[in-house]
Amino acid sequence: MFKSIRSKLVIWYLSVFSTVFAVLGFSLYYELKGIVIGSVDSHLHSEVQFLASLIGEEKGDIELEISGKGAVGDYALPLSGHYYQVSRGGRIFARSPSLSIVDAYLPATGESFEPSYTSIVGPEKSPLRLLTQSFRLPAGVVTIQASESLEDPYRLIDSFRNIIFLTLPSIFLLSLIGIWVITKLSLRRLNILSRKVGQITEKNLEERIEGVKMDRELRPLVEGFNTMLSRLNDAFTIQRRFLSNASHELRTPTSVIKSYCDVTLNKERTQAQYRDVLRRISEAANRMSDTINKILEVSRLESNTFSFKPSNIDLKAIMKDVVRFLKPSASAMAVKIGYSGIDVSIVGDRERLLEAFINIVDNGIKYNRRGGRVDIEVGKRDGWAVATVTDTGIGIPDSEKERIFDRFYRLDSSRNRVEGCGLGLSIARSVIEAHRGRMEVESKVGKGTRFFVFLPLT
Ligand code: ADP
Repeated sequence: MFKSIRSKLVIWYLSVFSTVFAVLGFSLYYELKGIVIGSVDSHLHSEVQFLASLIGEEKGDIELEISGKGAVGDYALPLSGHYYQVSRGGRIFARSPSLSIVDAYLPATGESFEPSYTSIVGPEKSPLRLLTQSFRLPAGVVTIQASESLEDPYRLIDSFRNIIFLTLPSIFLLSLIGIWVITKLSLRRLNILSRKVGQITEKNLEERIEGVKMDRELRPLVEGFNTMLSRLNDAFTIQRRFLSNASHELRTPTSVIKSYCDVTLNKERTQAQYRDVLRRISEAANRMSDTINKILEVSRLESNTFSFKPSNIDLKAIMKDVVRFLKPSASAMAVKIGYSGIDVSIVGDRERLLEAFINIVDNGIKYNRRGGRVDIEVGKRDGWAVATVTDTGIGIPDSEKERIFDRFYRLDSSRNRVEGCGLGLSIARSVIEAHRGRMEVESKVGKGTRFFVFLPLT
C-alpha cells in the first residue's frame, strides 16, 4: 500500500509523533495540574491548622479568636473565593467576612478527621478548592472548612494546555512539510538519475553520469553506476576487438583458399597440379579450423558455461603426453625435446591442462631455431607444483612479456615467420588461472625463453 519512500516516511513520522505528542502532552498537563492543585491544597492545609489554633472557649461558648490575617485581605473581601467556616455539631459559629457580608455559606459537611479536599462551585459561581477537617478540641469536635479560588490556577493550566496543543501540532506540521519537501527534492534527483541511466545503451557506454547533484547518501550509487559503466564499456570494447581480430584471422586462410580455387579453375590442370592445390587448400583449412577451435575455446572459457572435470592427475604423465603429441612437429623443426622431473600429483582437468601445456611447448618448438632444444622440467617449489618449459628460441623482448598473454597478440618478429593466431597463451593462462595457478615468463632475445607454470599441489 505504501510503496513510496515519502509516504512511508510520513506515515512513520505521523504515528511516532502522535504517540509521543499524546503521551507527552497529557502527562505534562496532568503533572502540572497535580502540582498546581497540590500547592493550593497545602496552602489550605496550613490555613486550616492556623484556624484550629485560634479556636477557644469562653464561658461555655466556643469562639474563634480571629484577628489580623483572618479579618483582612482576601478573607475580608465579599465573595473573594477565600472563605473559612467553622461549625460544631452542625451549628456554624464563625465565617469569614467574605461570606458573612453577603450572608453566604460554604456547603455544610459532616465530621471528617482526615483532611478532605474537594473541588466545588462556590457561592460566587466560580470553582473553589475546599478543605474540610474536624478537630477534637477541648471545646468539643469542631469542623473547619477553608477554601481558595481555583480561577487563577485553572487559568495557568489552561494557558499551558493551549501552548501544548498549539505549539506541538505546529512543530509537527512544520517538520512534516520539511520531510515532504526534502524527500521530494531528493527523489527528483533520483528521477533525473534514472532518466540518465535509461538513456545509456551499448552505443554510448563511454558516457558517465555527471552533473546530477546528489545527496551524500546517493553519491555511492552514482559512483557505482559509473564504475559499472566503465567495466561494461571495457568488456564491450574487448568483445568488439575480439570479433574484429577473429574475423581478421579467418580472412587470411579464406582468401588463400579462394585464390587457389580461382587460379586453378582458370584453365585445365594436370592431376599433379590439382593434388598440389588441394594439399595447400587442406593446409589452409586446417589452419582455419585450428583458429576456429581456439576461438571457441576462448569463448567457452570466458562464458562460465564451461565446467572443469577435476581428477587426481600426475603432472609428469601429462608432460609425457605433450611430448608424444608434439614429437612430429619437433622433428620437422629438428628441435629436440628433453624431459626431466619427479612425480607431482595435482587435482585438475586433464584435457584442459594437456591443451594448455601443448600450447606452451608448441611455442617453444615454433619460435625456436633449427636444431634447437625445448626442455621440460616438473618439480615442486614452496608448496606449488612447478612445470618449466625452456627453449633456445628467438626470445621475447621485456616490453612484450605481459602482452603475449593477450588475445590475438603476436610479436612482429613471429608474425611472418610462424603460423599462429595469438590465442594459445591466452587460453593457457585462462586454464592455469582456473586451476588457481599462475604463469611467469623469463626471456632473453636471441637466447631463448622459459615459461614457469605454478599449480597448487594436491
Ligand atoms: P601464437 O603462437 O598462435 O601466435 P600464442 O598466444 O601462443 O599465439 O603466442 C603469442 C605470441 O607470443 C606469439 O605470436 C609469439 O610472438 C610470442 N611467443 C610465445 N611463445 C614464445 C616463445 N616460446 N618464444 C618466443 N616468442 C613466443
